[in-house]
Amino acid sequence: MNTPFLPLTRPSIDEDTIAGVAAVLRSGWITSGPQVQAFEAALSAHCGGRAVRAFNSGTATMEVALRAAGIGAGHEVITTPLSWVATANVILQTGARPVFVDIDPATRNIDLNRIATAVTPATRAIIPVDLAGLPVDRERLYAIAASHRLRVVEDAAQSFGASWAGRPIGSFGDFVSFSFHANKNVTSIEGGALVLPIDMDPGLVERYRLQGVARSGFDGMEVDVLGGKFNLTDVAARVGLGQLARLDEFTVRRRLLARHYFDCFDSALGCDLPVMDFENSNWHMFQIVLPADVPRAAFMAAMKERGVGTGVHYPVIHLFKLYRALGFCEGMFPHAERVGRAIVTLPLFAAMLESDVERVCDSVTESIAGLRQNA
Ligand SMILES: *Cc1c(COP(=O)(O)O)cnc(C)c1O
Repeated sequence: MNTPFLPLTRPSIDEDTIAGVAAVLRSGWITSGPQVQAFEAALSAHCGGRAVRAFNSGTATMEVALRAAGIGAGHEVITTPLSWVATANVILQTGARPVFVDIDPATRNIDLNRIATAVTPATRAIIPVDLAGLPVDRERLYAIAASHRLRVVEDAAQSFGASWAGRPIGSFGDFVSFSFHANKNVTSIEGGALVLPIDMDPGLVERYRLQGVARSGFDGMEVDVLGGKFNLTDVAARVGLGQLARLDEFTVRRRLLARHYFDCFDSALGCDLPVMDFENSNWHMFQIVLPADVPRAAFMAAMKERGVGTGVHYPVIHLFKLYRALGFCEGMFPHAERVGRAIVTLPLFAAMLESDVERVCDSVTESIAGLRQNA
């Protein structure tokens, strides 16, 4: 077969952005400076004018949000077991305890119906995750948070460009955290952004971002909190600015390709498909859940043989050794465990063609047929 390998994802970096990066490198100012300020201003405009601060990762943004909300030892934070491990790791970093709540198998996001029973007097916050870019129901989420007096740190790492009821994710709510990792819909190579709640002092978040340092006058320096080393470089910010200008184009393209997946996918295979949402989701990923008789590793190998990259997002967090050591075990979150064992991500990125989607769907049909024949 001489068709080129189709990767799971690939960033679209244009020549203007590459030239812009070269200009930053020649400017003499390469770490946090004017490009970061411009990136933050552009992000703020996207988020309805709310204060936004750029970080060197989406993990750092969440850790800082939790610290800025005063969350630490003795507190509990509710989240989903089906996410990138960063979502729960940041809770441990602050000294708080993650409390997992099972997913709704249809949306694959945290099951909002189960949150109330997980709340204890120690609960301080919820970290919902918009898996694959499908937003958690924001109306219900904030109603639950308000009724239990909980903070919300939206892990919107995958939902930049998505919306809820016509409003962009990030333009409303409590803390909203974005990631601009290379595989996200918009990238700064590595990077993240934190949208601050209305009443939050940006100075505190800036201090947590860089060693707790506050400067004043020409020579004044003070440190009053333990900050990290989480600042974004101007080189990265210039990449992010070039990407941000194309956000709508990327989202439209991803929605169109996702729609084509639904048109072409063989529904007789017995796979679970994602929720068909072309209004809110930014289609960060197109994920299927394999039927019980199709082993995932063999399926992924068969797809690779046909020149198609696939991925796993994600194995459940609570069954990693680090989390088992905290008392979590199999059977606690059965929906998440089943989906985490059988979920596969298919290629979806802005530069893909409709013919690529057709090729992926044909490869899925052939791969599953092949595995069933050999069973
Ligand atoms: C990517 C991602 C993160 C972390 O972002 P980084 O920029 O890689 O630190 C957190 N949560 C989810 C759900 C993600 O997909």
